[in-house]
Amino acid sequence: MARPLVDTFGRVHKDLRISVTDRCNFRCTYCMPEEGLEWLSRDEILSFEEIERLARVMVDHFGVNSIRLTGGEPLVRANLDELVRLLAALDTDVAMTTNGSTLRRHAQGLKDAGLKRINISLDSLDRDRFLELTRRDELDTVLDGIQAAVEAGFDPVKINCVVMRGINDDEIIDFARFGRDNGVRVRFIEWMPLDADQTWSNDRVMSQQEIVDQINEVFPLEPVQRGHEPAQRFRYLDGQGQVGVIASVTQAFCGNCDRVRLTAEGQLRNCLFAVDEFDLRTLLRTGGSDDEIAAEIARGVSAKWAGHQIGQVHFIRPHRSMSQIGG
Ligand code: SAM
Ligand code: SF4
Repeated sequence: MARPLVDTFGRVHKDLRISVTDRCNFRCTYCMPEEGLEWLSRDEILSFEEIERLARVMVDHFGVNSIRLTGGEPLVRANLDELVRLLAALDTDVAMTTNGSTLRRHAQGLKDAGLKRINISLDSLDRDRFLELTRRDELDTVLDGIQAAVEAGFDPVKINCVVMRGINDDEIIDFARFGRDNGVRVRFIEWMPLDADQTWSNDRVMSQQEIVDQINEVFPLEPVQRGHEPAQRFRYLDGQGQVGVIASVTQAFCGNCDRVRLTAEGQLRNCLFAVDEFDLRTLLRTGGSDDEIAAEIARGVSAKWAGHQIGQVHFIRPHRSMSQIGG
């Protein structure tokens, strides 16, 4: 019988994010350094069977009902559809966040394996800027990947766009138009201080208010009643779909956070910005029982803090970059 996974602030945790690899075929400037990161070795990262076991403990003991695969780039891991199939057999929804560069090859297989939802990251519609931001000349491949996801029947396909002042904030309207024209839902994300190059600064964060004001001038919007999700959604008044903003910095949703994270090497993190981790891999590999694993997960979640405090003097930057944590 599942019991809720609750922290000391009474937040119930239902959403598990699993980073399946720390590797990536891109090198987005706001996420990882161009070089110098040391990859985990094959035996350091969890096998599909180990991931499935941890996920099953989460589902059976705590009623976790949503799992998102992320990374690094999840699709650099071979045969990922096998993992999706294993997880989809649990009583939970399986989703993925990807850079989209190999989706033309994988979208249909993932859908057939039981993947329910897909988010594709895209921060510029301009080829040169895309190259600057990702350090890869693959805009067309990603656009084709988005098309492949639509064709495979994912609905809605969501596009994650990190907005950075002075870098891509002049493309907000282009992205809104792209979403409206292509039947995909664009979600703008406020830039968070998790870039390995440490170029983030508070004044380069484009706030939700600024983003929405810009769009509203061209395509009038109204807010949609908010559920548990981190994105505040807005509906276009002319009926041409919706757009979302994840205001992780200026309107942190920590008070409603229902997420726990598992790194590729099996460390439980109770927050994107956590400085401590809980070692589930050792338990897994030294014969720990499901109950012992569940107890360690509960211990990790009960240690969760109230919120991340970006911009406050006591904010501590985690030692990992976003690519090592998983977004
Ligand atoms: N490689 C996949 C991708 O790019 O979608 C999955 C991993 S990536 C770390 C997950 C999400 O985190 C992406 O949507 C990415 O844009 C976002 N992200 C990375 N660094 C970020 C930062 N510093 N601030 C806000 N979002 C960030
Ligand atoms: Fe790779 Fe995704 Fe990070 Fe870009 S955002 S470097 S695609 S993990």
